[in-house]
Amino acid sequence: MSTTVPAIDPTALRARLDRAREAAGTAGVDALLMAPGSDLRYLLGGTGTSFERLTCLVVPTGAPAVLVVPKLEAPGYAAVPTEELGVEIATWVDAEDPYTLVASRLGGVSRVALGDMMPALHVLGLRRALPGAEQVLAGPIVRELRMRKDAAEVAALRRAGAAIDRVHARMAEFVRVGRTEAAAGADIAAAIVEEGHTVAEFVIVGSGPNGASPHHSLSDRVFEAGDVVVVDIGGPVAEGYCSDSTRTYVLGEPRQQDVADTYAVLQAAQAAAVEAVRPGVAAQDVDAAARRIIADAGFGEYFIHRTGHGIGLDVHEDPYIVAGNTLPLEPGMAFSVEPGIYQPGRWGARIEDIVVVTEDGVEPLNVRPHELTVLPA
Ligand code: ZN
Ligand code: ZN
Ligand code: ZN
Repeated sequence: MSTTVPAIDPTALRARLDRAREAAGTAGVDALLMAPGSDLRYLLGGTGTSFERLTCLVVPTGAPAVLVVPKLEAPGYAAVPTEELGVEIATWVDAEDPYTLVASRLGGVSRVALGDMMPALHVLGLRRALPGAEQVLAGPIVRELRMRKDAAEVAALRRAGAAIDRVHARMAEFVRVGRTEAAAGADIAAAIVEEGHTVAEFVIVGSGPNGASPHHSLSDRVFEAGDVVVVDIGGPVAEGYCSDSTRTYVLGEPRQQDVADTYAVLQAAQAAAVEAVRPGVAAQDVDAAARRIIADAGFGEYFIHRTGHGIGLDVHEDPYIVAGNTLPLEPGMAFSVEPGIYQPGRWGARIEDIVVVTEDGVEPLNVRPHELTVLPA
């Protein structure tokens, strides 16, 4: 149920809770209501789970926070420094109504913000218990905090990046002619854990035509000499922060004539987008930096997704590196830069690094070679 995780400095947690409360006030809500998940982990440092029984961190803007938790789940939060955080624990047992318990802690409220991923079961339970309160999403409030990583968070992302780089460095062990994507994927998943992750959250091995499907996972396709193979892998390290890195490989000489030239365009686009990252630049300009090069080379219609996504306790979070996102980048923001070129039915390629915005530029957290890497056929 609960795993041992490195303790986060209680002072840092306290500051997060205070900032969340302040941001909620600014947003005009009376309380944040957070179910287990990455937001709760961010605010409490605890990794409890919840199912049909309600666990909810109640953060009123004008009163101390309360963690409403089923009595049987409470031990999962034993490591949370509740005293330093000023968080009271309120347990409930089966046959009690936890939604009424939350309502009784809030008194009269007109607007509450619910964690984006709270199950509908609990959303509707809270609506019933707080009929006068408008429900809004807490995501826009909490993401303002989570998007700007502190030094400890960046250090955890750096460790995750180094760990996934070590897996990519071993790719010749896994991807070999005659094996299947599934067999390679199982070995890669094991290596992701061996190299320092708590779990392999995702393993994409897209060989040959499968590489043209960006979210292909694994199949029974057997690797052939000349295959281009897209490998996109990642998972969390103990602190909960995730890695996510793609490299594209070729088994011997590429089968298609156009691979080298097309890949060179992709590599230039990815490098240009990383180069564009610095404080003050709009997120959409990083997307444009990659897209312009790919489109100018005539492959615009084959780049079918945004250039990147923020990363932290979730693999995908704000800020999104996409046309229309005018958010100016700030130091501490972490996200992927992962353009791809996908030719349906033929082959595909993607290059993905996680980068962090620094005071005056960018720090890439993935440093494996960006060239099309030849594996022995
Ligand atoms: Zn993706
Ligand atoms: Zn990825
Ligand atoms: Zn990604």
